[in-house]
Amino acid sequence: MKDIKNLTRDDLKEVCISRGVPAFHAQQVFEWLYRRRVDDFSLMPNLPVKFREYLKTAFCFSQVKALKKEVSSDGTVKFLMGLPDGLAVESVLIPEKKRRTLCVSTQAGCKFGCKFCVSGLNGFKRNLTPGEICGQLLAVEKETGEKVTNIVFMGVGEPLDNFDYVMKAVAIFMDNRGLEIGKRKIVISTCGFVPGIEKLTESGVGLRISVSLHAADDKKRSQIMPVNKKWNTGQIMKTLKKFYEKEQFAITFEYILISGFNSSEKDAEALSMYVKGVPHKLNIIPYNPSEHFDWNAPTGDEVGGFVDILKSRGVFYTIRRGRGADISAACGQLKAQILPGA
Ligand code: SF4
Repeated sequence: MKDIKNLTRDDLKEVCISRGVPAFHAQQVFEWLYRRRVDDFSLMPNLPVKFREYLKTAFCFSQVKALKKEVSSDGTVKFLMGLPDGLAVESVLIPEKKRRTLCVSTQAGCKFGCKFCVSGLNGFKRNLTPGEICGQLLAVEKETGEKVTNIVFMGVGEPLDNFDYVMKAVAIFMDNRGLEIGKRKIVISTCGFVPGIEKLTESGVGLRISVSLHAADDKKRSQIMPVNKKWNTGQIMKTLKKFYEKEQFAITFEYILISGFNSSEKDAEALSMYVKGVPHKLNIIPYNPSEHFDWNAPTGDEVGGFVDILKSRGVFYTIRRGRGADISAACGQLKAQILPGA
């Protein structure tokens, strides 16, 4: 049986048409699923009886379940989410004044093996379906009773490597009969997966993009992000320029500042030069140590010295402290803690 929650409203319209019922029933199904959160076709009385009977035989409802949660002293909540086949991923809820941002996973495991990220340690299992991606929001809202306002695709996996399913999930998130999250409130984060950035540009869907840079020098970047050996910083910038020409959104660059690795004056200069290639925002994130890696957190002086150079080069930046540092430092760690070997 297929999962009904993998379908966008347009997909559902096609189902309606193929069954000879008016396409507006797609809107009703969507409202039952995402506004009223009903997972039973028998409880959708405004659908024609025969159509309901057909739906029962053809579709099931995916269930993503919050298996465990940890609440940080700063209010951040990390959820371990169980998928229908027994695999698990993480979602992180970051409450701020008016916003409740949910960081969702898009793959179980990751192929890219960045050397500071727990998610890649046990390799790649599979892509998450649209139902499983949106299901993380449904599970969090069920658990907390509060509406998620923003989505960042920054959990386990490289979202642009699961492009088609992620775009379907985005359509469901944005649908005004679905989860009603505006496109300006959705950010796709990428490790620099150039073919995916190209597809996103071609799609013209109008989402903002954030690039995990972490080093502007190819040799260093390849050392911590093997993806850079395939698509280097020059290729990434070329692709981002095209994205900017089309979308006119500033690109966000994320830079995890690791003591003694990418925190020197030369690194700051290289970063300044690099980000100036395109209108941008720059987030400097002091590394949060993990038992899984040997990297160290930068000292306050190291951070200060680094950003002083950025300032002197006319580069604007924001220093972001990792949220939820006391519950588990990096993506993937919650899973590693309670599902050893998963
Ligand atoms: S940082 Fe992202 S792309 Fe890199 S290993 Fe982790 S999940 Fe994968």
